[in-house]
Amino acid sequence: MDCHATTPTDSRVFKAMVPYFTERFGNPSSRTHRFGWEAEKAVDRARHHIADLIGARAKEIVFTSGATESDNHAIKGVAEAYCDRGNHIITSVIEHRAVLASCRRLEKRGFKITCLTVGKDGRIDPNDVRRAITSETILISIMTANSEIGVIQPIAEIGRIAKKEGVLFHTDAVQAVGRVPFDVEELSVDLASITAHKMYGPKGVGALYVRRKRPSIRLTPIIDGGEQQNGLRSGTLNVPSIVGFGEAARLCLDEMFAEQKRVRSLRDHLLDGLRRNISDLRVNGSMCHRLPNNLNVSFPGITGESLVMGVSDIAMSTGSACTSGSNEPSYVLTALGISRELARASIRLGLGRFNDIEQVNYAIRIISRAVNRLRELSPVYESGSVGANSLSREG
Ligand SMILES: *Cc1c(COP(=O)(O)O)cnc(C)c1O
Repeated sequence: MDCHATTPTDSRVFKAMVPYFTERFGNPSSRTHRFGWEAEKAVDRARHHIADLIGARAKEIVFTSGATESDNHAIKGVAEAYCDRGNHIITSVIEHRAVLASCRRLEKRGFKITCLTVGKDGRIDPNDVRRAITSETILISIMTANSEIGVIQPIAEIGRIAKKEGVLFHTDAVQAVGRVPFDVEELSVDLASITAHKMYGPKGVGALYVRRKRPSIRLTPIIDGGEQQNGLRSGTLNVPSIVGFGEAARLCLDEMFAEQKRVRSLRDHLLDGLRRNISDLRVNGSMCHRLPNNLNVSFPGITGESLVMGVSDIAMSTGSACTSGSNEPSYVLTALGISRELARASIRLGLGRFNDIEQVNYAIRIISRAVNRLRELSPVYESGSVGANSLSREG
């Protein structure tokens, strides 16, 4: 139940990949024999599946090693290509670290970064985006859906603003693509980062969507070499992984509607069950603008850390995979304005394609029992008392 960190590779995806390790091992850049042609054809097919999933054209898909690279490429590539136009970038405080750290790196090189805050519901106000734009602004980078609280941003509105103001718009769409409809035209997105392993594909392969029409985006490469992928990203293509990514995208497009419905009902059942068994439970972030598979809840009086350690046979986390393990509360949760205590009292659950109702019922039972036991042991928590309230309303 930690599908925001990664998802299992679907066995159908794995099956599609296997031949490209062995008999179809060609290098798609080899133009002189059938091994190369075969590999090129497979890569092209995958490109089309991925493009179809996000409403793009195949030639607008650049394969990368994952979304960390895609985010770096979008932000640093635009910064370098458009630095003659301006030096200002707008992003938000709840972005993935790949975006925040890329912006921080540029800041050291003289770029100006505006980090927008979010409301209590975890959403960015599009008016804040509009107000932040100056004559120096070259790029807006706002994620589509957050990996901790699952909150979906008003991407279409932000896209419209960016287009009207002539500013490029990048979105880290990792958590949204494959789970909810996402269309680069409808959303007026110029660049989008995605990764295979969050949508039932293999790890180590991702893509950057780069708009080629109205307008055609200039992007400075960050990896130079053999000029593969029109020189945008050199290096021999990882054919088996790309084939898997393509198959994963095809399956998502095929099954998204049914899966979204099923996973949403499991998630709602999970929340209902926890609410029934646990007296004081807070959902973090908007419930209506939210991924169907996400739940992020705080249990006042305990720490998420002690809970996830106490229930070792359910995979859940206290935040993103990159920050869990540290003692600091999640920067995403504190950005919502909740107290550090309440942020520390939270867990994140991300359901997926292979979870079923039995697992959810089991999770309800085990988590409820663990929370109630931890509260009994807690020296500060008294159920229903002023103590519990003052603890959670602090700050
Ligand atoms: C997982 C994730 C990434 C990083 O993707 P990798 O392919 O693991 O590098 C970037 N952004 C978001 C929102 C993510 O959830």
